[in-house]
Amino acid sequence: MITSFYIRSFELSGGVSADTQFHFQMCIEKFGVAMTTGSNWDFRLPTEIHFGWERLSTLSAVLTNLGGRHVFAMIGRSFLNRVGETGLKDLLGPVELTVFTDIEENPSINTVDTAAARCREAGADVIVAIGGGSVLDAAKCVALLQKNDGSIRDYLYQVRKPERRGLPLVAVPTTAGTGSEVTPFAVITDPEKNAKPAISYPETFPDHAIVDPALTISMPTPVAVSTGLDAMTQALEGFWSTRATEMTRAMAFRAITLIYRNLEAACLGKDRDAIEKVTLGSVIGGTQMAMIGNTALHPLSYPLTLDYNLRHGLACAIYVPAFLRYNQPAIDARFSDLLTVLGLRTIEEFAAGFEALMQRLDAPTRLSALGVERAAIPQIVKNGVGRSTAFNPRPLTEETMIEILETML
Ligand code: NAD
Repeated sequence: MITSFYIRSFELSGGVSADTQFHFQMCIEKFGVAMTTGSNWDFRLPTEIHFGWERLSTLSAVLTNLGGRHVFAMIGRSFLNRVGETGLKDLLGPVELTVFTDIEENPSINTVDTAAARCREAGADVIVAIGGGSVLDAAKCVALLQKNDGSIRDYLYQVRKPERRGLPLVAVPTTAGTGSEVTPFAVITDPEKNAKPAISYPETFPDHAIVDPALTISMPTPVAVSTGLDAMTQALEGFWSTRATEMTRAMAFRAITLIYRNLEAACLGKDRDAIEKVTLGSVIGGTQMAMIGNTALHPLSYPLTLDYNLRHGLACAIYVPAFLRYNQPAIDARFSDLLTVLGLRTIEEFAAGFEALMQRLDAPTRLSALGVERAAIPQIVKNGVGRSTAFNPRPLTEETMIEILETML
């Protein structure tokens, strides 16, 4: 019996909801970007990217160009601890400054609303976000709420739609990464519903992304591993997605090769060249994701994060080897050049190599290692199907997904 997919209103934890996909469609329509697959495509990224070592030093000039006089700075605590308030002021230049640092991992609706109120009280005219995906996502929402009424809850649950663009936003990632600095997505935790709904509007693309590999060096190894594997999975899903265009696929190809070859040296060896390449792969992968979203792996990661407390990137990557194997008949031709560049002969070699890489990075590769039992798999699949599941290159049913996950015990 074939069970058809249901579409959950909100996919959970760190991904793109069905409603987000709908809003993403709106972005596409507003920007005139076609979502065609194959040889007809359009591409427009409203975010201006500034990439390279020490590019953080351009922040002050970027703010001047934006005409910012009063900056609301949403700053990750680890960054502020490193540079201090004086260092932050030096970076921002001659502007009035209000600093907000109370942003937890997976930021909540309450945090966003509190920050938005603080920003309004301050009368800021530009927002700077420096931190991981959590800080960047919160800042996108705060920027939106400066010019649009209500709580972020209203926008997460489509009670309201933005009527105007928010404050200008400069996004500076310190992880590599979610790619949030170049996407319209913002994932916010709703503790009442134990859910992570997301927004995605044309208004929520950052205006500028300053991507400086130096900022990621201080990541503790588990954070570097998880965020790097998130970037790798996003690129892989983009490469095999049925929504991919020639343009996004070219970007995904490059992102995969950069991250796959360099992740271990970046995370375990703190090698400078490898760190640069993983950071570059993350922003390139994020850019293609901004256009086409994900496939089956991201929604499947949410139950592992919510119910088994697994970091987002690890929860996505754990599925990669099994899905490479399942998708093999549908992706053999498309992956042929990629495999050659990676020095691999078959999809099976890629799957085995990816699994070995995860083991060297101390990332879990078996569901049983998380405490998942066979009896729990149908519920994981039920909770882990989302709209983007439909973009997997080989058709999936709940039954086939259960079979795939059973091979991962
Ligand atoms: P994070 O922002 O939650 O940060 C993880 C931890 O690392 C935090 O404790 C943080 O303080 C610390 N940290 C960050 N940078 C550091 C550095 N350079 N040195 C030392 N410590 C550092 O992690 P993340 O993976 O970047 O972001 C995850 C969030 O992003 C989730 O909420 C997820 O849902 C969301 N996300 C968003 C998108 C998008 O497109 N908007 C895509 C994927 C995930």
